[in-house]
Amino acid sequence: MISKKMIKYVEGSSITRAMFEEGKKLAAKHGALNVYDFSLGNPSTPPPESARQAMSDIINKVNPGRLHGYMNNSGHEDVRGAVADSLNKRFGTSFSYENIIMTVGAAGGLNVILKSIIDPGDKVIAFAPYFGEYNNYVANFDGNMVVVPPDTSSFQPDIKAFEEKITKSVKAVIINTPNNPTGVVYSENTIKQIARILDNKQKEYGTQIYLISDEPYRELVYDGIEVPYITKYYKNTIICYSYSKSLSLPGERIGYLVIPGEADDYANLTCAANVANRILGFVNAPSIMQLTIARCLEETTDITVYDTNRQLLYNHLDSLGFECTRPEGAFYLWVKTPCSNDTEFADKAKEFNLLLVPGSSFMCSGYVRIAYCVDTDMIKRSFAAFEKLAAYYNL
Ligand code: PLP
Repeated sequence: MISKKMIKYVEGSSITRAMFEEGKKLAAKHGALNVYDFSLGNPSTPPPESARQAMSDIINKVNPGRLHGYMNNSGHEDVRGAVADSLNKRFGTSFSYENIIMTVGAAGGLNVILKSIIDPGDKVIAFAPYFGEYNNYVANFDGNMVVVPPDTSSFQPDIKAFEEKITKSVKAVIINTPNNPTGVVYSENTIKQIARILDNKQKEYGTQIYLISDEPYRELVYDGIEVPYITKYYKNTIICYSYSKSLSLPGERIGYLVIPGEADDYANLTCAANVANRILGFVNAPSIMQLTIARCLEETTDITVYDTNRQLLYNHLDSLGFECTRPEGAFYLWVKTPCSNDTEFADKAKEFNLLLVPGSSFMCSGYVRIAYCVDTDMIKRSFAAFEKLAAYYNL
């Protein structure tokens, strides 16, 4: 028998699995070119050639003991130092290798930091809509998720609703900007307001509230928009970064945590994160990937394809009468469903071979997410299906 706790997770995961199976069935029936799968956030652009070259170079040239051996659970010190230097250069921060912990992607980083700070019953706040896995990660450590409802006029966090949700048992707040699923970048004003409220609440309750900034999409921004660097606004910030999207390496599992020196309980926190990396069973982030990213710190995948896709899809759906949030970053388009039931809408879309994810998977019903990290050709081919969908809803 599997554990009672796992039964819940297994039931939840079957929704994604069902969508994947559905896609395969539709492709077998109608032909792969006639099915428009916008469900997965899997990068469609290849990693930069320099990243692949670095991997092969490292295999051939790096001393096997260094490449293949165990190491400090926080990662290679020189790689952590190189990450710190690069952040300092880009954002004017003053991190050293001691502030950086290499992780198994953002998913690994989030679990490491949550394990480090959450006691059973502690609360973690997130702003809807958000990446549904946060619920599972918080449940891993018997924390309780508190959801701030969305401000649907902008999909910036609803600051007043946020303030009302903070109680003495809130230990952490998770933000994600550029955001999955809306593509919105939180403005500097939003960040300043979140920081001000957290500072005040910490003083009022005499507690620490960590602001966990989940940043897999930091480099995926359009029209020159700036993503504020969060540690500059609030001292109890922890950055959770990933190369999955910025270097198109999601299968390689590499990212890092930044724990700034000014964070409350810094010394214990870095120690706890080091131990959590070990005892969650990661032990350390993959060595070859640590050495690889150290050679590609200033690089990103080519995001011009995402930008083309973003404009094509946004303009077409907007012209058809769908209410879309204009994405500023990431590779998702967030669309209001013309009927109130988003699952019913996604089911109807499926009849036209369009696979979209209902907003309720992101704690925000009445919307769907369209992942446009796909071939531009598929987007163009899908237009006729979107036209039929719009016609069905009399848009
Ligand atoms: N956080 C968000 C918002 C994501 O969208 C994802 C993946 O899609 C992750 C975290 C996990 O990313 P990683 O591959 O770095 O574990």
